[in-house]
Amino acid sequence: MLDSPIEYLKGVGPLRGDMLRKELNIFTFRDLLEHFPLRHLDKTQVSLINEIDPTSDFVQIAGRITDVTVMGEKRGKRLVARIKDKSGTLELTWFQGITWVQKSLFPGQDYLVFGRCGFFNGRPQITHPEMELLSSVNKTGQAFLEPIYPSTEKLKARALNGRQIGKLTAVLMPQLAERDIPENIPATLLEQLKLPGRFQAYQNIHFPKSAQAYENALRRLKFEELLIAQVRLALVKLNRHRYSRGVVFEKVGDIFNHFYNNVLPFQLTGAQKRVFKEIRQDTARGKQMNRLLQGDVGSGKTIVALLCMLLAADNGFQSCLMAPTEILSQQHFQGLSSLLKDMPVNIRILTGSTKTAERRKVLAGLADGSIQMVVGTHAVIEDAVQFANLGLVVIDEQHRFGVAQRARLWQKATIPPHVLVMTATPIPRTLAMTAYGDLDYSVMDELPPGRQPITTVHRNEMQRGGVMDFIRSEIEKGRQAYIIYPLIEESEKLSYEDLMQGYEQVKSWFPEPKYRISMVHGRQPPEQKETNMQRFVTGDTHIMVSTTVIEVGVNVPNASVMVIESTEKFGLSQLHQLRGRVGRGSEKSFCILLTGERVSNDARERIKIMCATNDGFKIAEKDLELRGPGDIEGTRQSGMLNFKLANIVNDKAILESAKFYAQHLLDNDPELSSADNLPLKNYLLVKEGKTAWSKIS
Ligand code: ADP
Ligand code: MG
Repeated sequence: MLDSPIEYLKGVGPLRGDMLRKELNIFTFRDLLEHFPLRHLDKTQVSLINEIDPTSDFVQIAGRITDVTVMGEKRGKRLVARIKDKSGTLELTWFQGITWVQKSLFPGQDYLVFGRCGFFNGRPQITHPEMELLSSVNKTGQAFLEPIYPSTEKLKARALNGRQIGKLTAVLMPQLAERDIPENIPATLLEQLKLPGRFQAYQNIHFPKSAQAYENALRRLKFEELLIAQVRLALVKLNRHRYSRGVVFEKVGDIFNHFYNNVLPFQLTGAQKRVFKEIRQDTARGKQMNRLLQGDVGSGKTIVALLCMLLAADNGFQSCLMAPTEILSQQHFQGLSSLLKDMPVNIRILTGSTKTAERRKVLAGLADGSIQMVVGTHAVIEDAVQFANLGLVVIDEQHRFGVAQRARLWQKATIPPHVLVMTATPIPRTLAMTAYGDLDYSVMDELPPGRQPITTVHRNEMQRGGVMDFIRSEIEKGRQAYIIYPLIEESEKLSYEDLMQGYEQVKSWFPEPKYRISMVHGRQPPEQKETNMQRFVTGDTHIMVSTTVIEVGVNVPNASVMVIESTEKFGLSQLHQLRGRVGRGSEKSFCILLTGERVSNDARERIKIMCATNDGFKIAEKDLELRGPGDIEGTRQSGMLNFKLANIVNDKAILESAKFYAQHLLDNDPELSSADNLPLKNYLLVKEGKTAWSKIS
């Protein structure tokens, strides 16, 4: 029934069917059923004629038709009717269908009139109103809520406006029986949450008897959407836990212990300890770990990665750490190899710029197992790279690695290696729940002790001199500074010119030889980038002028100033990432957001948030509110977030409860085979095909 082509619905036909398909993607009865109203119009809400003013949009009035006249000639010909209520008189005008309308209007009768109100010679009038005899509309005085649907200009021009689509829905609904819209939520759950049944909810979302009935229907259908999504994600996760095979890291051995007791230069934070423990448990059970590690910038994810790599080494497995850029790979390699320099661990780097001879050695060492750890860019997963026994892959700053790239890793070992993905940017909880709900998930919400909060300020072009003076005073104290230029695309000519101009300008503020400046951008050959970067890392240069290549992960604890040029061009999470490059040492750090004098409201809002908080999770929440889920960096398959009714920003509470109950259902009945859960299982089977269940049933 619901799968019938839309043109078979009475009142549709081939022509309208075609338009509905093209304009609204409505192909079947079901699509129409799931084309939900934008709002409802209360037919008992009637205005008085003298209340209408030029700000009124759609109005509804009730009154008596006093006279009906045809006026004008030829193209000016029109039908004008006058309607009168106790407060005044209003003109109704028709330019088309005059003969037909005239026949159906009866002077002396009471009508309910609806339409968009316009003003003509200072008097309100409605053109092409919708008319209904009052006697046929509403005898009870109770609310009568008429649905108004999303439509398009094209459809409106062809008599399928927001109300007229409702006429089609009104034809469809009475044809549907309970079995067409079978229940898919367990009865006990419905009862517990006081949600209406599915059939009833569909009736009431379109044609509610009261505002309350509509609200309940909406809540029910949103919950259903989110519950189904959460059950699906939880099933994927459950199946992976049950059926995947993973290498076993059974012991913590000498390598780890030596490092932990003698090398580790600081105490781990509570969050680092907790996350490592989670990973330790995960990798000991013989199932493949697929874990997402979220931590704010500077929370110390790298050391957690290293501890895991040491754990792998203790158990005789190789590990690899992949980073999205050459610079970051270099820095990780230098950091890790200096920590490991007195330990019996062979760690190497492999990137696009590794020289052939060295490359050959690394490949041989990885293939025969004499190299235990490799750090690198995606060069690590090229076909030529073979591992003797790869047990762990850590992917840093995850969002730049594609799904396909990750899949190639799976082919590097017979039993797939454990995977730890570390995100660049915190993701709001609600988003993570929907976009990454199938992964295991750890959060590091604690910064190492002794960090001073970064002070963030907004300055405009007029204040540039003061900003430069400030940088100078910081350099005098022995600190270093970043100046970052926006880069939309690495190759973009304009931003390159901006950068060069900026560089010249900075040079004139900070003349050589007293001051030394590094510049890094995407057009430089890798060696040059590396040298310039290195000079800044070692403190040889005072200022780093760069595009956003610096954004990800780079660590120079002595840098205390971050100046961001054209701040308005950056998104919130990117600004937060950039700011995270300072405040890494014990010195007080500053972030200066530079803009022109005029700033758009959006940009102003972002700047305000940046100045108000250093908390990446809070910023991520704000970013989600401002931009909506579709645009957030680090989310995959945005389709996972496209719900018809639910919205993860506004329906947080429903999402939380759906997540809770999905977990609860599967904890108690992983096969969903109890009588109560069977409707849900059947729904998933029909809707999802057998895939989710293939390994269960
Ligand atoms: P991110 O999570 O942004 O990748 P990093 O791993 O680069 O952060 O760590 C940032 C800085 O904090 C590094 O200099 C690191 O050595 C230091 N660090 C990490 N953990 C701790 C800790 N528990 N105590 C003190 N400093 C730490
Ligand atoms: Mg990092």
